[in-house]
Amino acid sequence: MKPLKEVKKMGMYENVMLQFNRAADLMNLNPSVRKILAIPNTEIVVNFPVKLDNGSVEVFKGYRVQHNNALGPYKGGLRYHETVDIDAARALATWMTWKTSLAGLPYGGGKGGVQINPKLFSNSELERITRRFTYALGDNIGPEHDIPAPDVNTTPQMMAWIADTYMSTKSTNERTKHAHVVTGKPVSAGGLEGRDRATGFGVVIALKEWAKHRNTSLRGKSYILQGFGNVGYWASVFMQKNGAILVGVQDASGSIYNEQGIDPENLHQYMSENRGFIKDYALANALPNEMFFGLNCDIIIPAALGNQITEDNVDTIKASVIAEGANGPTDTSANDILISKNVDIIPDIYCNSGGVIASYFEWLQNRNGEMWTMEEVLEKLETKMKVSFKKILESASKYNTDWRTAAFIEAIARVEQAYLQRGIFP
Ligand code: NAD
Repeated sequence: MKPLKEVKKMGMYENVMLQFNRAADLMNLNPSVRKILAIPNTEIVVNFPVKLDNGSVEVFKGYRVQHNNALGPYKGGLRYHETVDIDAARALATWMTWKTSLAGLPYGGGKGGVQINPKLFSNSELERITRRFTYALGDNIGPEHDIPAPDVNTTPQMMAWIADTYMSTKSTNERTKHAHVVTGKPVSAGGLEGRDRATGFGVVIALKEWAKHRNTSLRGKSYILQGFGNVGYWASVFMQKNGAILVGVQDASGSIYNEQGIDPENLHQYMSENRGFIKDYALANALPNEMFFGLNCDIIIPAALGNQITEDNVDTIKASVIAEGANGPTDTSANDILISKNVDIIPDIYCNSGGVIASYFEWLQNRNGEMWTMEEVLEKLETKMKVSFKKILESASKYNTDWRTAAFIEAIARVEQAYLQRGIFP
């Protein structure tokens, strides 16, 4: 089976900059602000040694790119994947600036990770890699400066290790004031009820808003899901609650299809017992990866990596809406082809913003010494997602443009305003 790659023809940073430039042209962005926003503020690359279980030492490469902090501390996930490099970190950090701004949060954008395949390491090796990476980043992260969170292949457990390592470097008196250096922690370690499901939940709220806008409903709609990790799995749980039918899934191990429907809980159970992979699931048929996006369905939810819908497969797509759970899953050329065919694209910086919104709630909870309930979290999250969708529709109508460009315009305008009011130091 041919594995899909994160970066195909277009680099991820090239993709995000095409999106940015399109919006900047249309909104007539202030030229000085445009220069500032066209490049990340800071790019950190660390090489750090870790002792492996067999006693040998390996040197790992970690990244943290801090794109912009005009609206508040840098915020964004850490990814463990072989495709993590400076281009990916730059692109993902840039998307975070637009995502947090669009959501109306007091944050900027950052992103990073380590270039590894975590499946090749034991749990104790992953703990040492995570702790040493945190140590290497030092005060380049911090609860009021840059706040990481989980992303591809990073877990709540790893977030707890990051918090513990960071806090251990502080004096006894200061230690407990730093728990909000990272979000996405397990609930027992200062995490937020519902942070685990927040991104998937948000994707489904976005789809419900789309359905309302198009005078339809999710009930009975068929959909396919690329990625069955945190975002994909939780999206499938809430899609099922809304009566939608999962007919195809693809993960790093392959693709499966069953037009009668795949039960998310049953598949999740199978995956948990199969080293985290869906391959060979008995209640669906295997499918070549290159046929996946062409499956008959109403909705596509990409929830894996970037640059997955490209010129190579866009013409096979039959769905009428794409809800971008992943960051940057559709490259600009595929995006334009889909729009010309009247396929709705719910853009990533809105569609998957449930995660960072819940991370903000966790940060507030830690900062204020509060404990929020799951109901409170999901209700507040839903309200915020609805507000953002309305903003996108208004901006799309004002500028007569597509939803992605409209979302970028909204997000960029907030940052532009901050620069224009504050001016440039000195
Ligand atoms: P995860 O590690 O929990 O799951 C990733 C999934 O993608 C797994 O099922 C994996 O098998 C699959 N995958 C990996 N490589 C693949 C390939 N080549 N082809 C098909 N599938 C592949 O990660 P996640 O946290 O669910 O993140 C998924 C996407 O959502 C990423 O783009 C991430 O940046 C974005 N995102 C995540 C969050 C969050 O809160 N976790 C928030 C916003 C956006």
